[in-house]
Amino acid sequence: LQMKDELSVFLETGIYKFEDSNVVFIDPVRVLNRSYTRFRVSPSAYYPRFFKSQRACQESTVSSNSRKRKRNAKEPRPLNESERVAEHRHQEAKPLLLKAHEYLLKSTELLEVLGKLSNDIGSSTQCKGLSVQGVENSLIELGRVWQAPLYEITLTLPCHKKANDNKDSLSMQYGEQMVLPAFNNVVANETEDDVEAELLNSHYILPRESCFYMSDLGKIHNLIPDEGACGFNLIVIDPPWENASAHQKSRYPTLPNRYFLSLPIKRLTHTEGALVALWVTNRQKLRVFVEEELFPTWGVSYLATFYWLKVKADGSLIGDLDLFHHRPYESLILGYRHGKVMNSDNLSTIRPVKDNCVILSIPGDYSRKPPIGGLLEEYFPGLKPGRRIELFAREMMAGWVAWGNEPLHFQDSRHFNQV
Ligand code: SAM
Repeated sequence: LQMKDELSVFLETGIYKFEDSNVVFIDPVRVLNRSYTRFRVSPSAYYPRFFKSQRACQESTVSSNSRKRKRNAKEPRPLNESERVAEHRHQEAKPLLLKAHEYLLKSTELLEVLGKLSNDIGSSTQCKGLSVQGVENSLIELGRVWQAPLYEITLTLPCHKKANDNKDSLSMQYGEQMVLPAFNNVVANETEDDVEAELLNSHYILPRESCFYMSDLGKIHNLIPDEGACGFNLIVIDPPWENASAHQKSRYPTLPNRYFLSLPIKRLTHTEGALVALWVTNRQKLRVFVEEELFPTWGVSYLATFYWLKVKADGSLIGDLDLFHHRPYESLILGYRHGKVMNSDNLSTIRPVKDNCVILSIPGDYSRKPPIGGLLEEYFPGLKPGRRIELFAREMMAGWVAWGNEPLHFQDSRHFNQV
């Protein structure tokens, strides 16, 4: 019976908690859909890998095989000092990851749902796709040109007719339009409904009670709350870390580590403190930087590490756990930043963060992280739902502030269906 409950909770929330464990499976599409009323995230847009044509799949297997062959032909070189430390860290995480994977493989009911995912994708019967024209805006490029301050975004606010206004009480009337600067400006949907927006002929969907600020890092200080205002209780950060492998082409600009030292974490922190969740890659140099420089500079004390283990729809890992440069997992480092009000209650009212949680999910587009905010709710200080911000965001969520140079990226209407 317990299992059945977990499954129905999963179908509703997108989060499946494996009993008596630190392991969860999440379906980002279901989680994100809780932010919307009239629209739904399109599974085929979220999971583009399912939609590679058969041919493209075969081609990519052939080429990766030949790449593998080349790699194998080389003599394996001995690991250097920092690689040995990374390998040691991996060996420590490995049993946890294998155990977590086993939970998934044993959960036939969940695997069954995942197996149907590609059917769901093919037949979204209740939903119709939105008509989209032209090419997707490159928001990063738009933000860079001299005209950026002139670009405007038009929000069309829905207004529900009152029941006695019209016989058809559910009909929607399109009300007021709001025209706002799209860049370097706080744009908010304060309504309790999805809002459609238009920027240079592209359409975007903004979830209820959400807000974005689209700018370069140089302008982030504009998000610092005024004197007397509160700041954020949960700060999720997914920085554009530089990638060691030069041939892995990046879809966005990256920044050298020193730039992240200047993120105003302390001044974004709520007067009652904040939980800071930082996505990191497996590079040892990066881990050392975070532990020895970044967290100390931000005044953040380390709490715990979570792992994100990436699987395919059949439940198998996306790659071999032991491939040194292509681990099928990434880490989320959690820390605590105290606020101005040093109240001993602050820390004691939040639950101690469990260490070594493993989050399993099927990865979306390049570098897209699963929405983990819901898993952290019990761990941050202050009243719930709390003030939440994502830094370097590419998407928006109900109740969150999204900052980055392309926070509307995944809000483009081509990523949605209409209910
Ligand atoms: N968490 C995101 C997701 O799940 O889709 C991915 C974030 S990605 C790792 C980093 C983001 O930082 C990219 O959108 C990139 O364009 C943005 N970025 C890079 N340089 C930036 C800058 N100087 N100012 C603001 N954002 C920047």
